[in-house]
Amino acid sequence: MNENKERKEILISVKGLKTYYPVWKGIFKKTAGYVKAVDHVDLDIYRGEILGVVGESGCGKTTLGKSILQLIRPFSGEVIYHFPEGEKDITKVPKKELDDARKKMQIVFQNPYSSLNPSFTIFGTMQEPLIRFGMKNKKERREKIAKLLEEVNLPKEYMERYPNEFSGGQRQRIGIARALSVDPEFIVCDEAVSALDVSIQAQVLQLLKELKEKKSLTYMFITHDLSVVEYISDRIAVMYLGHIVEMAETQEIFENTLHPYTEALLSAIPIADINRRRKRTPLQGDVPSPVDPPGGCPFHPRCPKCTPRCRTEIPKAHRIENNGHEHLVCCHLAESL
Ligand code: SF4
Repeated sequence: MNENKERKEILISVKGLKTYYPVWKGIFKKTAGYVKAVDHVDLDIYRGEILGVVGESGCGKTTLGKSILQLIRPFSGEVIYHFPEGEKDITKVPKKELDDARKKMQIVFQNPYSSLNPSFTIFGTMQEPLIRFGMKNKKERREKIAKLLEEVNLPKEYMERYPNEFSGGQRQRIGIARALSVDPEFIVCDEAVSALDVSIQAQVLQLLKELKEKKSLTYMFITHDLSVVEYISDRIAVMYLGHIVEMAETQEIFENTLHPYTEALLSAIPIADINRRRKRTPLQGDVPSPVDPPGGCPFHPRCPKCTPRCRTEIPKAHRIENNGHEHLVCCHLAESL
């Protein structure tokens, strides 16, 4: 175990998390199966880090983020929040304690326009969480919202305007300010820059980095864009069909890729420098249905390195130490490393 890892403080531990959606059949709506959106995920999120979560559409990354926040209640498993006064499994606490935990955890959505009520001014939208969490005095709310807008580089006068008066980048800044309004310590950024132009993306990413340092925040940064996740993340978790198949520090993932799925994802990133380009290993076919996932390794129907064993045996999670960095990979090939 390396020294860096020993110094890290865990903020949230996810243990055996499963989020399944029932599939109903017939007029009596009998449960015919489950969409296994998140399937047995184990994960520690360290205080102060940016954990990137990547994978194709439908891999379960958004459901994982929302399940940690308890916006979607998981089917089973634990989400242990490490409060200063002790740890609590927030999947099982009473509503009052869940509200306390929710105050510490916020989300920034992909489409800020749909998350802002068009008939409310920015003040009207941003004061809602402040009221909910006990700020009764309107003058205090105005002062707080003015400060939050300035922190995301918007003039405080904008609080009197409506969402349709702003550009996409400005709306996302408002979404970030709203998430910050209850002084959280953990924020899930769910495709938070995916809908923005590239130049605006860079500004919003820079803002998120600055706010993280200033307010000692921890982010889970969900995206399908590997260039974005490489820029912003300290560690990366790669998801496929509801499972984390590879996880390591960002540089380690990019320089010492171990899982064939990650290899295929990274090989698709356009790189101008001819010396840094990877051999392209395009993914075959589509992601299988999470209602009826393949037996054995879930990636086997698309894996260029598939062996007969992969079709029948689920690979275990292997933890590998590489130059003092921990690297987790779920692949039979990792047994020989
Ligand atoms: Fe490919 Fe087999 Fe590894 Fe799965 S276990 S990723 S099918 S080599």
